[in-house]
Parts: sequence; structure tokens; C-alpha cells
Amino acid sequence: MLKIGSHLSSSKGYLHMGKEAVSIGANTFQFFTRNPRGSKAKEINPEDVSAFRAFAAEHGIDVILAHAPYTLNACSKDPHTREFALMTMEDDLRRMEYTPGNLYNFHPGSHTGQGSEEGIRLIAETLNKILKPEQTTTVLLETMAGKGTEVGRSFEELAAILERVELSDHMGVCLDTCHVYDAGYDIVRDLDGVLEHFDRVVGMKRLKAIHINDSKNPFASHKDRHEKIGEGSLGLETFVNVINHPALRDLPFYLETPNELDGYAREIAMLRERVKEL
Ligand code: FE
Ligand code: FE
Ligand code: ZN
Repeated sequence: MLKIGSHLSSSKGYLHMGKEAVSIGANTFQFFTRNPRGSKAKEINPEDVSAFRAFAAEHGIDVILAHAPYTLNACSKDPHTREFALMTMEDDLRRMEYTPGNLYNFHPGSHTGQGSEEGIRLIAETLNKILKPEQTTTVLLETMAGKGTEVGRSFEELAAILERVELSDHMGVCLDTCHVYDAGYDIVRDLDGVLEHFDRVVGMKRLKAIHINDSKNPFASHKDRHEKIGEGSLGLETFVNVINHPALRDLPFYLETPNELDGYAREIAMLRERVKEL
């Protein structure tokens, strides 16, 4: 069965997100670990977590994806900004162990003029400080559109980070369809070719989740503006190919499209209808 969900607000806790997910036809969901501005997180409520875990088991929710605040920058030239990213991610990973065995996605960051090589080095250095051998969470690097000085704009940059991480068994990649298309990977005309490239450079076994977003901008625009499924430059057929691709179909898919819950429900239903049974 297709694993699909959307981004949900985490302000009312895990059980609330689980119920909201089920109400829109989802069997997974993504949420911010804290306010996207990166402020202090509410402490986890163990009762909420245990109620959620029982609910999730009953409703076939077997994986969830936490997203770090997108304002964190582990490769800034400002050491205080880097330290804040490190402390926040370390605290997020501690909190993730209340729901073991799930996924934690973050934006590699922006090198702010230091060059991508230095950015890559700083990101790996941060990961080497916060990853723990005993953790059950898999940390994902998100593929980026390449706006400004973003690191992670190419599969090669992601591979270079992964190569430098000591506990790389705890690492994976989340592929964002809007971002890779904006970055210049043509998943509209050559999805197979892009995935072969990914496999060669990063390795398909690293791919753990997909963000499914259409794009408001044309191919290789390096912009990163998400659009509703089928209403942007990628088009519905691309998403039908993505969710049915043999190398992707068993991964969890997350909508980050400009929608409220009812819009997400419609997109989930539309994509579920287009799953081709083997
Ligand atoms: Fe993201
Ligand atoms: Fe994304
Ligand atoms: Zn984006």
C-alpha cells in the first residue's frame, strides 16, 4: 500500500497528528520538531507518545518523518549560528527516541560565501558531533534547489557529506521533487536517468523518503517555490511515474504543497487512485 501523507502542524502533539493524518487518508506524516524559527521545543509528553504509538499501530502508520527547523544552518560562517544548529539538532535527536526507528530530515544549509567544500566539511563535522551509535533515528539530508549558497544542490554534494560522516549507517537522503527539478535534474522527461545518476553517486539504498511537490518555476530555475500537485511545471504524470517507480514505490511520500487539510486529502486521494497494482 502506498505510504503517503502531508506535512502537519505538531502544535497539538503526536496523537492529534496521527488522527489528522488518518482523517485525510494518510498513513504517514511529516511535522516540524519545533517552531520553524527554531525556538525552544515543548518537552515530549510520554502519555501522548504512547497513545499515538497504539493509534499508529492500529491505523497502519509505521513511519513518520520529523523535519528540523528550516532556519538552522550547520554550515554558516557564523560560529554561533552553527552552534545553535548543532544544539537544536542534538536536542531533536534526543526527543526523536521517544518514537524510535523514525526519520529526521534537515536542510544541509547555506555556506554563506565560504564555498561548498567548506560547507560540506562543516555539515559533516556537526553530524559527527551529534550522531550516536545507539540512536534508532535515521537522519536525512534533503536535496536542495540550489538557491543562494545552498549546499546539497547536487547528488555529488550530498555524497561528499555522507562520505565524511563516521556513523553513516544512521544517515540517508530525502529527495524533494520540486527541489531536484529546480536544481536541474529532469525528473519530468528522464526519471530513470536521474535515479540511475542518484544510484551511481549516492546509492539507492540511502534514499529513505520523498517530498512530493510540484514547482511554480521552470526546470533548473534554482528557485524552490512549491506548487500543488499537477498545477506546476512537473505536472501530474510526473507524480504518477514517481509513486509507481519500482525503485521508489515502497518509500514514504510527503506532500509539502500549498494546501490546507482538505487540499491534502484531495491530493492523497488523487495519487492513491493512480497507483498501478503490480
Ligand atoms: Fe525541507
Ligand atoms: Fe522538502
Ligand atoms: Zn522547498
